[in-house]
Amino acid sequence: MSILSRARAQIRDLQPYSSARMEASGGSVMLNANESPWAGAGLNRYPDPQPATLVARLAELYSAAPQQVLVGRGSDEAIDLLVRAFCEARSDAIVVCPPTFAMYGVCARIQGAEVIEAPLTAQFELDADAVLAAAAPHVKLVFLCTPNNPTGGLVPLPAIERIARALAQRALVVVDEAYIEFADAPSAVTLLPKHGNLAVLRTLSKAYALASARVGALIAAAEVIDLLRRIQAPYPLPAPSVAAALAALEPDARPQVAAAVARTVAAREQMRRDLRRLDAVRQVLPSRANFLCAQFTDCGDVYRYLLRRGVVVRDVSRYPGLADHLRISIGTPEENRRLLEMLRAHEGAS
Ligand code: PMP
Repeated sequence: MSILSRARAQIRDLQPYSSARMEASGGSVMLNANESPWAGAGLNRYPDPQPATLVARLAELYSAAPQQVLVGRGSDEAIDLLVRAFCEARSDAIVVCPPTFAMYGVCARIQGAEVIEAPLTAQFELDADAVLAAAAPHVKLVFLCTPNNPTGGLVPLPAIERIARALAQRALVVVDEAYIEFADAPSAVTLLPKHGNLAVLRTLSKAYALASARVGALIAAAEVIDLLRRIQAPYPLPAPSVAAALAALEPDARPQVAAAVARTVAAREQMRRDLRRLDAVRQVLPSRANFLCAQFTDCGDVYRYLLRRGVVVRDVSRYPGLADHLRISIGTPEENRRLLEMLRAHEGAS
């Protein structure tokens, strides 16, 4: 039995929309898509729904087969597609591990699915026992974020594998690796050959500096990819975004990406040391991502002080367990210097 048996029957049985570009492309006279024949800015034709070159590049990057890759409008789109394909309104559920990325819960609530929480431990580590205890029979998806946003901790692969094995044929375990490039850790993609109920989210928004292009990927069993393609919007990837992604994935661009990641990781460690020296900072969580989550004595005061001076960080104090915490993205050396300068000035002023 495959994990597809846990997807919504309506989606499995759906007659999907067949776009003009899916049915035929590459003719010398293209009159099948009601497009303008005038090239204009070169964007008059609908884009390929899943551009083969981009899919192949991403498959190679993530050590997967092209049939295991779905490209979409950021990894946000894949989260939404997964929830819509697997969760029946008013009867199914997802499991999340708060404090974590809010979109899993938001997508589930929009779909009318229940959100069951298996909180991280007091040290913000994944509690695999709690996840398995939360995985009731109506749970279709389990979201694990590694490194976790907003706390920055990594989920060890053996914990992911244990959860996937225990939930085989019961729930799809979705591992969100949006920040994995900053963690220097193996990807859960390596577990895919053994676990058909695993899916991995990746994105070009972070390490590849393409947040504005909106290109993300889901890596999963080919049958899961085929299922999601049935409900994906007809033309999810604008041609300029595809071009930007292909340029960033050129072999000669790779060293640049690696160097930027290394600089960010070094700056993160330096920033952690610098923040810990401040009187207003109570703790800085160890992070494997491109941000730090720090607890202040009064985070609202610090947040407003920085904001008035044009420095914007993220107030995450509304997340469970993160009272008085701010999440700070690692910026350029100049941006990091300005942030620290202001935090030091704030100490002097208060
Ligand atoms: N997952 C996590 C953990 C994130 O933090 C984000 C963005 N903040 C996303 C997914 C979505 O990223 P994108 O849609 O840009 O790929």
